[in-house]
Amino acid sequence: MFWNEMKGKKTTPDLTFAAALDYAPSPETFPVTLKKRYELFIDGKFVAPKTGKYFASVNPATGKRHTLIAEAGKADLDAAVKSARRAFEKTWGPMAPSERGKYLFRIARLLQEKARELAVLETMDGGKPIRESRDFDLPLVAAHFFHHAGWADKLDYAFPGRKPAPIGVTAQVIPWNFPLLMAAWKIAPALACGNTVVLKPAETTSVTALHLAEIFQEAGLPPGAVNIITGAGETGTALVAHPGIDKVAFTGSTEVGKRIAAAVAGTKKRLTLELGGKAANLVFADAPLDEAVEGVINGIYFNQGHVCCAGSRLLVQEAIHDEFIARLGRRLRTLRVGDPLDKNTDVGAINSKEQLGRITSLIGSGIEEGAELHESSCALPGEGYWCRPCFFTGVTPAHRIAREEIFGPVLSVMTFRTPSEAVQKANDTCYGLSAGIWTDKGSRIFKIASQLKAGVIWANTYNQFDPASPFGGYKESGFGREGGRQGLAAYVKPG
Ligand code: NAD
Ligand code: MN
Repeated sequence: MFWNEMKGKKTTPDLTFAAALDYAPSPETFPVTLKKRYELFIDGKFVAPKTGKYFASVNPATGKRHTLIAEAGKADLDAAVKSARRAFEKTWGPMAPSERGKYLFRIARLLQEKARELAVLETMDGGKPIRESRDFDLPLVAAHFFHHAGWADKLDYAFPGRKPAPIGVTAQVIPWNFPLLMAAWKIAPALACGNTVVLKPAETTSVTALHLAEIFQEAGLPPGAVNIITGAGETGTALVAHPGIDKVAFTGSTEVGKRIAAAVAGTKKRLTLELGGKAANLVFADAPLDEAVEGVINGIYFNQGHVCCAGSRLLVQEAIHDEFIARLGRRLRTLRVGDPLDKNTDVGAINSKEQLGRITSLIGSGIEEGAELHESSCALPGEGYWCRPCFFTGVTPAHRIAREEIFGPVLSVMTFRTPSEAVQKANDTCYGLSAGIWTDKGSRIFKIASQLKAGVIWANTYNQFDPASPFGGYKESGFGREGGRQGLAAYVKPG
């Protein structure tokens, strides 16, 4: 029961109600086996860590360990950076740009060939629904390599009148929400511009980056052009602090981003940061409501809300608030939560126990501060890490759930009366990564978009991505862009 129904308010006919429909299980059947353990990828080879240490990687849908990952130490880092330097000076750096492009095309094609296997691995290791890893992550991963393969020998056109030159050895540290996609966003432009790479995946999702390394081997990529070292925060700290690094690219939490900015301050290192977000979806009274409900649902529950540009605040115009919330509640109840490897699953597992703890504690703060929780009543699996998709009404801009990034399937609903109040509330955040506008009126879209302080703004849609379109933030969401011509600028010296 939802609050407006409980209070006896009128609701429209239930067009989206599908909770009563049940589907037979439809498990992914593609056979995939994880390795017993994963080594470091240094100088074109898989090598055991000099530390001799491995850490457990867990399948979040079961909570059980499914493989071991090497923990890189100082000597391993030195070897990776040295190999990247050698490749920059001897092979990849001096190579003709058109030749570099051929390697990138080869990688892109191999990614397409192995897309199904990689999608299953991504889902097993990270908990996201197979439908998403199959239909969203993997196609975009390949698209990023294709896109940048095309740029490799056309950089003079990306920077007319300049002589763009590579920067050197880049350190790239990425998060766990889109493991392969974030690797692609970072590696493809770096290589296309002639740089070499030392990449560190997140500790909970290192598996697919190491399968990507196998693709690099198969494509014959010169040893050292990309090295992959695994480990947790300390390994990341040591990598960005390494004196052999020329550029640091980081995606993750604002807290760690600030620490990295402090660590590279005063050095020769260049830096780009893609950090947190607290995006607002603005729904005006004239918006097509069912489409807006779909967009809001996709904006926050996609990938369990583990999305930096998630539309985690809903600002809805007062006149339609009750109606909109009623429809949103009905749609929420139809979301299927459970086995990420089931093709019917909408919402998968929370990536880790720690992340589930952070989400649960923020939900607790919402209840404590007086907001009203509406959650789906679906059953959750008995093992693993799960969170029912939910939203809060009665949220004020001062509430923690309105200010802090939750990074989970939790939506905070607020209202506005006038367009200027909508803009003021949407901008009332330390973040500025993305925003959504829902209205029937084209002129309003342009007017509001020009006033929002956000790097990406979607109108009457949400979560659309393309390698040609730059992505990045304002304010504490970071600086620098990924994708498009703007994204290339982070990997060249303009000359
Ligand atoms: P995090 O920022 O701690 O981790 C991201 C990456 O940075 C990982 O590879 C991690 O090992 C590495 N890292 C951690 N500490 C480091 C340090 N001091 N120096 C260098 N590298 C370091 O993110 P998290 O702990 O996994 O998640 C915490 C919060 O971050 C989430 O709740 C969410 O709000 C936010 N987050 C944002 C994004 C994003 O895409 N913007 C992605 C993941 C998490
Ligand atoms: Mn894992």
